[in-house]
Amino acid sequence: MSALRIAQSLVDEIVAHAREDAPNECCGMVGGVDGEARTVHRAENAEASPLRYSIDAKEQFRLMREIEEAGEELTAIYHSHTKSAAYPSQTDVNLAGWPDAVYLIVSLADPEAADLKGFWIRDGKIADAELLVG
Ligand SMILES: [Zn+2]
Repeated sequence: MSALRIAQSLVDEIVAHAREDAPNECCGMVGGVDGEARTVHRAENAEASPLRYSIDAKEQFRLMREIEEAGEELTAIYHSHTKSAAYPSQTDVNLAGWPDAVYLIVSLADPEAADLKGFWIRDGKIADAELLVG
């Protein structure tokens, strides 16, 4: 499982989305090439909830097409935790359906210092994904 390279500007975009949608969780997809993130695609949280997120099937299809048309592949899926740490909840694990994408979680638990972490979620198991930011 390789590291995910992501530019600080993309991290900033994800954090900005999290702040805009708080107190609800935000979510979206990240397109990339060869393990390097390139584009952030915001999704609407169909749950509109502070505790969970989902992207409806139509929106997933639309975003996947945007990513593919840019010559990229789905590299990461992100969502926010507005009150808890940047670590997958049991719900996140149960709903994780993309074994080849990094799950990025941005925590706003400390409003002054957003925390972004990456994980692989495969077969119900969580492993840290290294993020190379810059
Ligand atoms: Zn979560």
